Amino acid sequence: MTSLPIITENTAIPASTTPPGSPGSPDSTLLPISETFVSVQGEGLLTGVPSVFIRMSGCNLRCAWCDTPYASWAPEGTRRSIADLVAEARAARVGHAVITGGEPMLFDAVEPLCAALRAAAIHITIETAGTIARPPTRLACDLMSISPKLASSTPRNDPRDPTGVWAERHESRRLNIPALNTLITEYDHQLKFVVSTTADLAEIEALLSRLPAVSPTRVLLMPEGTAPPTAEVRQWLVRECVARNWRYCTRLHIDLFGHLRGT
Ligand code: SF4
Repeated sequence: MTSLPIITENTAIPASTTPPGSPGSPDSTLLPISETFVSVQGEGLLTGVPSVFIRMSGCNLRCAWCDTPYASWAPEGTRRSIADLVAEARAARVGHAVITGGEPMLFDAVEPLCAALRAAAIHITIETAGTIARPPTRLACDLMSISPKLASSTPRNDPRDPTGVWAERHESRRLNIPALNTLITEYDHQLKFVVSTTADLAEIEALLSRLPAVSPTRVLLMPEGTAPPTAEVRQWLVRECVARNWRYCTRLHIDLFGHLRGT
């Protein structure tokens, strides 16, 4: 893998370290890609659907428990053209593409990529933390899969962040209510939350009170962790979902393959 420059800011990235396809990049036809693979969608409303995954490398957040640090904390990968990515998606012959990251909404080139996938009649899911909105007039997307980050995601006393600069940035960026409301209003959507404690549930309820367009049936809770959850954890979370008419969300890829890249 080729090391890519680490994205440190949304808007103030020095030109020499601006990854291709990102805001301010001179080349809007290349995207930093950490991996592509074909598998089944492991999470959300389309769980089990065969999909080609296109993972962009680079993120404006640094979640403490990020399960793809090679696309956030230490982004790596290669620069690939939109034509190349679309050809690979077509060749996969699965009809669904999952644009994920990292944070795919960081990159302007996500727009021509999704336009080309739409032209190829491929269903598009975009997986995002919901901190950046792009309008549907510019971005083709059939399912906006939004995963807002709760307070427990902030990397406190993390050895990867010795000065605490990322903890501060992450905390200030992790919730963008106007962007979330735009994405929820403008796109078919689901909201996925990673949950580890009852405190997370109260935080989700408080957040949802600020997102009035969300239907409870589009709120999905996933247990935190990169290993299959215990029966006790699953049962606790199912009870909490049923009480609120939310959905419990499995992680099929973890159940099937464990925490393994490319699955
Ligand atoms: S938003 Fe996603 S990719 Fe970025 S740090 Fe958090 S979990 Fe990792």
